[in-house]
Amino acid sequence: MREDLHPKSISGADQAGPDHATRPATLNLGFLYTAHCNALCAHCSTDCGPKARTYLDEAAIGRTIDEAADACAGRRLQVCFSGGEPFLDTGLLGRLVAHAARRASDVTCVTNAFWATNSEVAGQVLGALVANGLTGLAVSASAFHAPFVPSGRVVTALSTALRFGLRRFLKFPATAGSEGATEWAERVGCDLTGVTLEQFAVMPALRAGVRLPDHAYQRSPGIPAGSCPGATITYRETGDVFTCCTPGGFVGPLRIGHIAEDGFEAVFNRFATGGLQQVLRTEGPAGFVPHIRAAGLGHRLRDSYDGVCDLCTHMLSDPAMAEVCDRVAVAREVETLAGWLGVVPPSSIAATAGSPGAPVGQLPQATTEQRPGRCPRTPLPLAEPTTWTENRREPANGQSGRAAHSPR
Ligand code: SF4
Ligand code: SF4
Repeated sequence: MREDLHPKSISGADQAGPDHATRPATLNLGFLYTAHCNALCAHCSTDCGPKARTYLDEAAIGRTIDEAADACAGRRLQVCFSGGEPFLDTGLLGRLVAHAARRASDVTCVTNAFWATNSEVAGQVLGALVANGLTGLAVSASAFHAPFVPSGRVVTALSTALRFGLRRFLKFPATAGSEGATEWAERVGCDLTGVTLEQFAVMPALRAGVRLPDHAYQRSPGIPAGSCPGATITYRETGDVFTCCTPGGFVGPLRIGHIAEDGFEAVFNRFATGGLQQVLRTEGPAGFVPHIRAAGLGHRLRDSYDGVCDLCTHMLSDPAMAEVCDRVAVAREVETLAGWLGVVPPSSIAATAGSPGAPVGQLPQATTEQRPGRCPRTPLPLAEPTTWTENRREPANGQSGRAAHSPR
C-alpha cells in the first residue's frame, strides 16, 4: 500500500511573498499505520502480510494531524492513509478519515482493492468513507499483486470511486520487460480515463529474502540528476518518522523522529532544515556523489540507476557512503545556521559546505552534539531557509509519471 498519494508533494506554484518562498505551500503527511495486509507481494519492501499485526496508535495519529494542521495554518494539508492494507479495518480507517477531514484539504487512501468484490459492496465501503470526508482513492495493481487480488476488483474499485467523484490513482510497479499499466488496463478492461497513472520501476528494496536479477531493473547508465521528487513526512506503523516513503527509504539517515518522542514541530523542523534534506531538495542525491568519489568510495556506486530515488536509497543504505553523506549534511546545516545568525562559518566548513568536489576530509565530523537545528530543546522556527522546489516527477522510462515513493 505504501505508495505516494501526493502528485505534487511540495509545490512552489502557489507561493507568494517572502515567507511563502521558504515554506511549502502544500504539506503532505503519510501514515503507513499498519503492516497488516491480506497479500504477500514479492516486491513489498516493508514485509507486509497477514501475520504482521502492528498498528500505529490511533490517538497519536489524530494528535499528529492536529499539530500539523496548526503548524501549517493557511497552507494546504494533504493526508494519506496507507499500510499494509488499511481496508482490513474499515472502522478504524473511517475514524481516521473523519478526523483528518476536519483538519486537512485532501484525504486519500491507498488500497489493493481486495474488498471490491462487486459494485454494491464497493459502493457501501467507499460510500461510508466518502461520508466521512474521503477525497481520493489510490489503487495498486501489478503482476506482483495479481496472485492475491483479482484484477476485476481493481476495476470495480476505480469505477466505484468515479461514481463518488473521488480523485483516482492507479499505482503500478513494473520491472524491465513486464507488462505496463496501459497494457494491463487494456487486457483487463479497465477504463483509465480520468485516472492518474503512476507507473514506477521496482527498485532493489524488496520483501526480505526476495531477489530479482539485475536485468529485471529498469536502469539507465550514469548518475541520475534531479532533486528529491517525493518529500513527504511519513509515519510508519512502528512510530518512526521518515522524510519520504520510497521503497528502501526507511533507513537511518532519512529518519526524522518518532511519534512517541517528537512532536510535529520538531519533526517538521528536521524535515525542513536537516542538511541531508536540504541537499536532496536543492541538488538531489547526485549532490553527494562528488564527495563520495573524493573520499575514495566511488567504486561503491553502481554504474546505472533507475532514478534519483534508487541512487538516494543505494547511497544511504551503504554505511560508508552514508557516513560521507552525513558529513556533507552537517556542513550544510552549519552553513545554513551561520546564514540565519549572520555570521561567517569557520573557513574549513564554509569552504566545503555544499561544494561538490570538495575534499571530504575537510568536512566536520558528524556528531549529534555538533548538529545545529537538531537540539530537541531549541527547535528551529517553522520557516526554513531552503527554497522549496517544485516537486519533480521522473518519467519512468518514457511512461507516465513515476510515483516517487512507492513501496509496493
Ligand atoms: S505491496 Fe501492498 S498489497 Fe502487497 S503485500 Fe505490501 S502492502 Fe500488501
Ligand atoms: S528516496 Fe527519493 S523521495 Fe526519498 S528522500 Fe531520497 S530522493 Fe527524496
